[in-house]
Amino acid sequence: MPTFYMPTKITKGDDCVLSNPQSLILGKKAFIVTGKTSGLRSGALGDVIKVLTEQKIPYHVYDKIENNPEITDMARGAKACREFGADFIIAIGGGSPLDAAKAISVYTANTPTEDGEFKLYDIFSGNYKNTPLPMCAIPTTAGTGSEVTPYSILTLHKEQTKRSFSCADTFFKNAFLDGKYTQGLPKQVARNTAVDAMCHLIEGYTNKKATDMTDYIALEGLRIFGKHLSSLESGEFTRDICTELLWASSLGGVVISQTGTTIVHSMGYQLTYFKDIPHGMANGYLILEYLNGVSKVLPHKVKKILEALNMNNLEEFDAYVKKILPRVADFTKSELEEWVETSIKAKNVASCPFFVDKSSELEIYKISLL
Ligand code: NAP
Ligand code: FE
Repeated sequence: MPTFYMPTKITKGDDCVLSNPQSLILGKKAFIVTGKTSGLRSGALGDVIKVLTEQKIPYHVYDKIENNPEITDMARGAKACREFGADFIIAIGGGSPLDAAKAISVYTANTPTEDGEFKLYDIFSGNYKNTPLPMCAIPTTAGTGSEVTPYSILTLHKEQTKRSFSCADTFFKNAFLDGKYTQGLPKQVARNTAVDAMCHLIEGYTNKKATDMTDYIALEGLRIFGKHLSSLESGEFTRDICTELLWASSLGGVVISQTGTTIVHSMGYQLTYFKDIPHGMANGYLILEYLNGVSKVLPHKVKKILEALNMNNLEEFDAYVKKILPRVADFTKSELEEWVETSIKAKNVASCPFFVDKSSELEIYKISLL
């Protein structure tokens, strides 16, 4: 039976962080989780510190989050959070710091030990004895939609891939969308992350778990994306366009919170893990072959996607994606053969609207990457 659940309060618009201290402050002591540069460069960290200082809320800035956060680093972050005694978290950054904040909030409330009741990998159960710390999010990329999803995607060196966890308490309580925080993104980061958002909208819209409600939202997100194709190409954005792209990205997050993603994401993780290809770029390399597969079972949906994007056919779509995403790595057949062994085990394989097995995933990898 279709359900729809999205508990995050979204505040959108110019200076929404500065003008909403009551939504930003969720407790008495704040632990700010951010990347090495994104908090400062976006201006969001400065705004948050201004609000916390004015409201006399003690805070600790934890700016150690690396791209594609790794699971053991999350336990280390939680230790710092516990030692500071924070009772809420403010996450600032792209998907990496936002996802990291979710893991840190779980591990702060549920200390992982090697031989105790709660172990590091138990985070993937989605079931925790103690409620994770409440969190707010300020995205500084317009891509993952993590500010409105319960998902956190962690790198696992043991398994040489990435895996996600989620539960109802890993949704952020509040999210703030202001284009001023994404306006200064390096051009290629803006493009990669926008393609991630587009993939969420497409994978959600074509997903086996799609509903009327998610379809409606996904098409609206794609329409916004379609309006700003030329800005993504030129790298010239106004603050308003940036806020609109953030909104499209959040709509993508709202959609995948209900449907999940598909094989584009699970196959993309290997490209990120083994070749260090940014997440959105990895998805972008695979999306055309995915849509070719979708065309065989849901041709009307592919038509709607193209209409929303203001494009005439998949050739035009492919040319656009190739224009904004350069090839940054080479691949070999034997690498791809190894990767399908992992990617085929992902749970979102079951959400793909067309049949996939190891050999069809290999075919998608080969056509897309060789
Ligand atoms: P990211 O890894 O968070 O950041 C990419 C780069 O952009 C970093 O170097 C970052 O710097 C920089 N950056 C971020 N904001 C900036 C700004 N405003 N100005 C200048 N530089 C900025 O990239 P992302 O694509 O947003 O997130 C990718 C992660 O999210 C992956 O781990 C992916 O698996 C995950 N993801 C999560 C979901 C979900 O639902 N939770 C969905 C899709 C993807 P710093 O290093 O200084 O931060
Ligand atoms: Fe993604």
